[in-house]
Amino acid sequence: MAETAMCSAGKSGPAMSVDAARLRAVAVACPVARREALALDNALGRVLSAPAIAATALPPFDNSAMDGYALRLSDLRGDGPWELCIADRIAAGDGRSLCLARGTAARIFTGAPMPAGADAVVMQEQVSRVDDIILLTQRPQLGQNIRRLGEDVQKKTQALAAGLSLTPPRLALLAGCGVATVAVHSRVRVAILSTGNELVEAGHALGPGQIYNSNRVMLRATLARLAWVEVTDLGILPDEPAKIRAAIRAAAGSHDVVISSGGVSAGEEDHILDALRAEQAELDVLKVAIRPGKPLTIGRLGQALYFGLPGNPYAAAITFSQIARPALRKVAGLTDEPDTWLPATAGFSYARTTGRREYIPVAWSRRDSLGRPILERLGPGASASLSPIALAMGIAVIPSDLSIVHPGQQLKVEPLFE
Ligand code: AMP
Ligand code: MG
Repeated sequence: MAETAMCSAGKSGPAMSVDAARLRAVAVACPVARREALALDNALGRVLSAPAIAATALPPFDNSAMDGYALRLSDLRGDGPWELCIADRIAAGDGRSLCLARGTAARIFTGAPMPAGADAVVMQEQVSRVDDIILLTQRPQLGQNIRRLGEDVQKKTQALAAGLSLTPPRLALLAGCGVATVAVHSRVRVAILSTGNELVEAGHALGPGQIYNSNRVMLRATLARLAWVEVTDLGILPDEPAKIRAAIRAAAGSHDVVISSGGVSAGEEDHILDALRAEQAELDVLKVAIRPGKPLTIGRLGQALYFGLPGNPYAAAITFSQIARPALRKVAGLTDEPDTWLPATAGFSYARTTGRREYIPVAWSRRDSLGRPILERLGPGASASLSPIALAMGIAVIPSDLSIVHPGQQLKVEPLFE
């Protein structure tokens, strides 16, 4: 069966493909409207809400790219070798307004301003010098070793587009253009909650029938890495419809995004869907042809985007990274979706039921002749298991219509947690 692209939101309708679910989730997400101005030192990882415009040109003046000698090509008559007298010495930070006298060269250092009239810099290694005379044997190229004013960024032009996140080199670029503060989207206010009567936090004693809560710490840690998120941790909610309704209503009223785990299947103890419906949520993604993680809900509750992740930790991790995260990135104002998959070669065999795209935790210690990792499968891939994802170097993507994976089969591999 090919991956269906149907966008059915009905619980019993056909499943949507992972790509359709992701597109749908992204389509219903809106960038946060709140903005703020931040100093560069406080802006790492934040998202530009407006284009960043260069305050000055980069570089702000013509300067030397080498330690060497600045000269004027028209002073080199005939075939050479040529001798020039050194008339000046210009270091980085020299603020004089200089003009190179005819028939002379200037000793110059990397980053120093070019004297007017000079049109090339010869590396110091390429001349012989005796006292204040240099001798060169090769004619330099026009403009060689000169970094021109504005060749990187021109003054008053866009240095970075809106929607980009501020990585260290992007911050360096802005600083280089004299930009001290940036306009960014305010942090996305995200509320997280875990549902399940069986859940207990690590550090407390486990009663009969109880398990420790893995999803809360996983989600919280995943979000903590995103500089553009501000998390509210609402802890564990019992499987009680009234409490769930009240909690999600309150969370949606004061957050941009609410993320819950558990309670989205069709079981009698799965109350999230009923609570969302009772609160008049618009449900956009319900049934997805994905393994693990079929029970997944994405919708809008008041002004908030709601991600109802499955309870099984591996399923929660996969559905978050494949479907919810791209939508969350859009809420943050990001416009670029990282394309992080790499080609890989299966080193395992696996016969499977078709119809759902499957994500398998993998590791590798060898590469094929083209340098592609040879993937080994970790664990049985059960959606409740945590050891496989804890040890995985990546997640292999098995296309929904592939019934057998053979060793040597070409697969995509992607990072699960970046
Ligand atoms: P549910 O989606 O609520 O039906 O849960 C599916 C499975 O995941 C059940 O075995 C739950 O006990 C388990 N589960 C639900 N929430 C968590 C959690 N936060 N941490 C670990 N396991 C969970
Ligand atoms: Mg549950």
